[in-house]
Amino acid sequence: MINQDRLIDTFLELVRIDSPSGQEAEIGSHLAVRLQALGFTTEFDEIGNLVGRLNGADGDWLLLSAHMDTVGTDIGIEPVIRDGVIYSAGDTILGGDDKSGVAAILEVLQTLQEEGLPHPPLEVVISVGEELGLYGARHLDTGKLRARQGVVLDSGGPAGHLVISAPGQDSLVFTVNGVSSHAGAEPERGINAIRVAAEAIAAMPMGRIDFETTSNIGIIEGGTARNIVPDRVRVVGEARSRDAKKLDSLTQSILDAFNEAAARHNTSVDCNVTRAYNAYRLSDETPIVQAAAAAARAQGHEVVLCNSGGGTDGNIYNAAGIACVVISTGMEDVHTPSEHIAIADMVAGTELLMEIVSRLATG
Ligand SMILES: [Zn+2]
Repeated sequence: MINQDRLIDTFLELVRIDSPSGQEAEIGSHLAVRLQALGFTTEFDEIGNLVGRLNGADGDWLLLSAHMDTVGTDIGIEPVIRDGVIYSAGDTILGGDDKSGVAAILEVLQTLQEEGLPHPPLEVVISVGEELGLYGARHLDTGKLRARQGVVLDSGGPAGHLVISAPGQDSLVFTVNGVSSHAGAEPERGINAIRVAAEAIAAMPMGRIDFETTSNIGIIEGGTARNIVPDRVRVVGEARSRDAKKLDSLTQSILDAFNEAAARHNTSVDCNVTRAYNAYRLSDETPIVQAAAAAARAQGHEVVLCNSGGGTDGNIYNAAGIACVVISTGMEDVHTPSEHIAIADMVAGTELLMEIVSRLATG
């Protein structure tokens, strides 16, 4: 049995340690110490991902993973509990994404140790920079990992909702080139980069394209003064799909929209496309999916195998041949000041993880 009070204490303690992406040193060493106290050997890679290992009963290694960074730049987060739900006291995020995942892993490990329960050999990865487009996981040497299957704790929703597929994502950065001129004296000598960007954005596919495909423009910046025809605009966006072909063709359509708009105005656009991560889809028959589903059912949850709209470190592990199911920690409204987590949901996610780990102990 997991210890609910200890789980909450751990979570509150983690939330109070500042760890925006890129500033994970303090929480990283805190977590390493905690894992070592639980008998793990630990190591950091050069960018700060924490990898811990604990031998168990014979059998296959099991990966348990969450990320230690929190989105954005919020620090000084102060959690408060109201009516069984944990919120942030101020206008910051709570950081339950993904400290609820980290807390669940620690509580399960502590319970296993305390009660001397059998478990498979465990490999724990707590990544950095997940909120920067899976930066930490992308730079992790997955070839060194021993596990071939795992559980990633980085999702919301009911405990029986198991994520088995997620989209790939292209990060898009466009620099639209124009020609500056005096807007009143000789506008005809200029090429208005804002106009070119506007035409491209108006023409490109945007928003929900279909049930598994989306795109967005999230940042547009450019121009220097009211009376100067702008010579440069930077546009940052993204394309996602759970279908690799659709992602390729969506990204191509967006590129076409920018190149055509630039051509109409006899100018150019520099396009920078980065595949942040690839899509994946696990079959229902995958052993880790079956184990998670059986565990969820045993705990009385209705099992739904879900397609996610967002990437997690699971995208990287699955691409590396480590079959990972993503389970809910109970986090809700993440990436906003209304982020919260119900204690009952956090407990349910932790108990589900406990059940999965116990079921995979063969010794
Ligand atoms: Zn997350």
